[in-house]
Amino acid sequence: MKAAVFLEPGRIEVQDIPIPEVGPDDVLVRVRAASICGTDLRIFKHGHFKLPAGTPRVLGHEVAGEIADVGSGVADWLVGDRVSLTPNVGCGRCEMCRRGLNQMCPTYEAFGITLNGGFEEYLLVPGWAIERGNLFRLPDGASFEVGAIMEPASCCLHGQRKVRVSSEDSVLVIGAGPIGCFHTLLAKRHGARQVIVANRRQPRLDIAGRLGADELVNVGEQDLRDEVMRLTDGRGVDVVITSVSDRDVIASATDLLARLGRINVFSGLGDAARPPIDVNALHYRELVLTGTTGSSNDDYRDVLGMLGTGDVDLSPIISRRFVVDDIHAAMEHSASGAGMKPVIVFEGTD
Ligand SMILES: [Zn+2]
Ligand SMILES: [Zn+2]
Repeated sequence: MKAAVFLEPGRIEVQDIPIPEVGPDDVLVRVRAASICGTDLRIFKHGHFKLPAGTPRVLGHEVAGEIADVGSGVADWLVGDRVSLTPNVGCGRCEMCRRGLNQMCPTYEAFGITLNGGFEEYLLVPGWAIERGNLFRLPDGASFEVGAIMEPASCCLHGQRKVRVSSEDSVLVIGAGPIGCFHTLLAKRHGARQVIVANRRQPRLDIAGRLGADELVNVGEQDLRDEVMRLTDGRGVDVVITSVSDRDVIASATDLLARLGRINVFSGLGDAARPPIDVNALHYRELVLTGTTGSSNDDYRDVLGMLGTGDVDLSPIISRRFVVDDIHAAMEHSASGAGMKPVIVFEGTD
């Protein structure tokens, strides 16, 4: 079968590798869609601490497809089932796993990092990953592409839960890439009374507008703080979500918030970037500073129910489709920031 194999930083090759063997408890998924994420780009460039040098790996952790084969001991899943999966498989025993926070498990395994991921024709889901809740049936209304992009959406839901976005809130989303767009959709879904989206590229802002943003701020032309204060009658917003990896954006988020405001640092920064935080703003205005990473299986299940039902148009978030042979072009498209999310698609039976 065809697979895009990561060999070392800077090197991915499309190879012909054997279809994985299916053990008694395993499920084999014929991949139909696998979207490209910033994490894939980072691994492609720099590798990953959980991936020893010289280990070939198929990347891609945002995956959906149909079951092509099941092991002899598998009772709950059938050939032909339309499925998607969550990347981080917890150990199932630690304190985090016992609280349902599989993404925080210190000894997690992950599709696309320690296990082969979705940029291949057939993906093996080991029995232990199924047992820990990482395989999901797609709702009838969800296409395979939607099933794939629900993974980053679930991370956004996790972030919004941390800052408890509700109908009381004016929410500022900084960044209008795919992540900022999911935050926009979810903030509206949570009933936020005002969603402001800030970005430098107008085409991305326009997409956020199509997805329901109430106010758009082009930070290439307008001063973000001035605009936020104008749009909130000088009060500031209740929630800031930073979905750009920018030290200064995080450092200045406290200036944009109303009293009791909450910040979610959604995007990580490079190792060297330590933004200065105005702790007096936290203290005197009782601000809450949070960060989130990844999502739990519960978040994923819930976001599938919220956005994967077919009645929310997610097509603006998918900018281009590629076949696996064109993995490099797809990676470049993703890195360029020119479009939204690229998806690797595979032919199927329907
Ligand atoms: Zn991802
Ligand atoms: Zn664990």
